[in-house]
Formats: sequence, C-alpha cells, structure tokens
Amino acid sequence: MTQDIDLNQQLFARAQKVIPGGVNSPVRAFKAVGGTPRFVSKAQGAYFWDANGRRYTDYIGSWGPMILGHGHPAVVEAVQRAVLEGFSYGAPTEREVELAEEILKLVPSMDMVRLVSSGTEAGMSAIRLARGATGRKTLIKFEGCYHGHADALLVKAGSGLATFGNPTSAGVPPEVVQHTLVLEYNNVAQLEEAFSLHGPDVACLIIEPIAGNMNFVRASVPFMQRCRELCSQHGALLVFDEVMTGFRVGLQSAQGVYAESIPGFKPDMTVLGKVIGGGMPLAAFGGSRAVMEQLAPLGPVYQAGTLSGNPVATACGLATLREVQKPGFYEDLSRTTRLLVNGLTQAALGAEVPFCGDSEGGMFGFFLLDALPANYGQVMKTSNPRFNHLFHGLLDRGVYIAPALYEAGFVSAAHTEADIAATVAAAREVFETLPKA
Ligand SMILES: *Cc1c(COP(=O)(O)O)cnc(C)c1O
Repeated sequence: MTQDIDLNQQLFARAQKVIPGGVNSPVRAFKAVGGTPRFVSKAQGAYFWDANGRRYTDYIGSWGPMILGHGHPAVVEAVQRAVLEGFSYGAPTEREVELAEEILKLVPSMDMVRLVSSGTEAGMSAIRLARGATGRKTLIKFEGCYHGHADALLVKAGSGLATFGNPTSAGVPPEVVQHTLVLEYNNVAQLEEAFSLHGPDVACLIIEPIAGNMNFVRASVPFMQRCRELCSQHGALLVFDEVMTGFRVGLQSAQGVYAESIPGFKPDMTVLGKVIGGGMPLAAFGGSRAVMEQLAPLGPVYQAGTLSGNPVATACGLATLREVQKPGFYEDLSRTTRLLVNGLTQAALGAEVPFCGDSEGGMFGFFLLDALPANYGQVMKTSNPRFNHLFHGLLDRGVYIAPALYEAGFVSAAHTEADIAATVAAAREVFETLPKA
C-alpha cells in the first residue's frame, strides 16, 4: 500500500461505533477471513474501488444482482428517468404490471407474482402462503440452504427426523421452528423417510435448487425428481428459492436447468430476488393462480409492503431483464464464468493444490478439495485457514472474492477475458504460496 493512512481502517473504526460490527449484513465484516473490510467508494463495470482508491475485480456483484456489471448505461438511464417521476407512491403503477408480465413470461411455472422488497420478505411470504393454501403446518428445508432470515427458517437439524429443528439464532423461540424439518441436501433416503413420517402435514418443501449459500452445490437430478414426486404425491408445494439462481444461472433460471433433465419439470412456487432488482431492493414470489389468489386482498393470507413494487426499483429490474434477454447473453456469460473456473483449476493443479470448481451461467463455486461436495457436512470439511490465505492473497492482488468459504461467486457480463486472465494469474501466484493441506 502506497498510502500511510488506511481509509478503510478509519471507516471501519467509525462504523463499529454506530453500526453493530460496523456492517449492515454480517458477512461484510470479514469475520471469517480476518482483516479490514474494504469500504466501497464507487463501482463501474467489473470493478469497484475502496476508500483508499484501490481497484478490485469484483466477483461478488452485490451477492448476485449485478449480472450486467456496475453502472450499465441502459439501467442507469432507466433509473435516472424513473427518479425524476417520483420515488414512491404507495399506489399502483403501470411499471409494476410491466415487470410482473415480464417475469411471468420468463418463468412460465408462475401464473401470478407479487413484488416485495427483499428475498427474506419473499421467502417468508411464500411460506406463509404455502401454509395458508394447504392448511398445513410442516415445512421441509435443507441444511446449508438459506432462505432469508425469517424466524421459522433460522433452524438446524434436530436429533432425528421425528424431532424437528432447533433455532440457529438467539431470539428465535424453539416453538417457532417446531414445524420446520431440516434434512440433508441430496439425501434421497432421508427425504423419503421424512415424507413417510410427516407427508400429510407437509405444507411445502423449500429448496435452493443450485445452492449458493453453502458455496456452490447442485441438487442432483434424481434428488430433485424425488422432491417433485413426493411433493405431488403428498399434496405439498415444491417451493424453489431462486433468489440467487433466478436469471443468474440462465434465462430459464434453475428450474429450466432441471427441466432439461426431467421432462415437464416445474416447481409449484418460485421465490425471486437479486437479479430481478438489478441492484435495487426488489424481490418476488409467485405460483399458480389458485395458490396466489389466496393472498390478500383476494384471500385470507395476509401480506403487504409500503415500498413493494417501488417505481425506481421496478425500472431498474425491468431494464436489467431487458438486457439479459439479448441473444447470446447467457452463452457469453457462461463462457466467461467457465473460463474463470477452468483457469483457477489449471492454476491450482500446476501448484499441486487440491481444487475443484463448478459453475452454471454467471454463478460459480470452488473448493480446496479433490471432489465437489454434495451437502453441507461435506462443505464444512474444507479448510478455513487455507481458504483465508487464498482470499487475502487475491485481495492483495486486487481480486475480490466472497470473504467466506461458504458463499458462491458471481461473474458479470462486464468481466472480460483479460479480467479473467489477470485473476487466474493472481491466483497462480497465491496457489504457489498456499500452505500444504
Ligand atoms: C440472498 C438470498 C435470500 C435473501 O435475500 P435478501 O434480499 O438478502 O433478503 C434468500 N434466498 C436465497 C437463496 C438467497 O441467495
């Protein structure tokens, strides 16, 4: 560092006095990797700059939304135009209808959609709706999948399939998670057992089809097929949490990826967020007309929001969705992402570092392991100190990957082959210095 004063450090000290941990979302604090969080001053394209004016190639993209890169001209223009027309009205607008139509056109498994402001809100509302529509209480989720921070979802597996889960956060009473069953991802036998024990009580099964909150772990096709069959058989709703994967892994989202292998495959409900807001607070949940008409004001399931369908956020989301529909968008994005994962793999191999990676569309993950993990337990076996060494080595070289082992990574349309080559070159240097496993 050329500067004597580290402005990130100064800001972090100031932030910690007024914001718990100095951050408004825990992972930003660098607790897992140590060191000082970079305070971002601006971003453009594939890069952002910290408080010291240092540039980083950005592989988190606001944790997914920035699929076009930062400051895409068409999106900036749409937002600027919208801002001049007002920030929020609390009354309906044509733009909300337009965005809903656009989302439904692209996600044919949904007949109707409601717009909200965050993925947490969308996931929480989808579960309430699933329970309201089925008249059942039990909720199945999988260890390592994140669906936002609603009480009923902050839960880890109990001691057995008959016992239900335990809260993972203080402030969540055990009673609140007593209807949440937590199962192992990709474990068909356990899934079957859970349905045979609790089938008639299951309102919904919620899943990240390609999990991005335990790094990057795909649900296997047979596992997904079983989820679909068992939900249908027992009258439970299959809820796809595509807050991360929606319009990130492809124009058909993750449900399209599974439909390629399972003919006619579709979930009953879908939760969206991140990309559909293009970086503004916007999320959505939707499903069949019959289910969605259970929502207020038509039905008995209550849900509301002051800023829902916000005119500036919807302008940002619409402009983003227009760009991703341009011919070749996902082909190019997938190619760039694969270039990164293959480059990192080759660099690691060259340094005899155990490494494996995977990607879909503009989302990727890698592990300092010989084989890809299939569930959270296996992800947990990865070595933290070695990941942290890699993280800081890359950061020192101007490459910003997720500051925690259990997070997916994101490539945007603004990342060039030259950006990827520079990142791979940086990784090659770091792999050479990585402590042995
Ligand atoms: C990010 C995320 C959420 C939560 O969205 P927020 O907008 O952060 O509340 C929910 N589910 C998944 C799969 C996510 O990746």
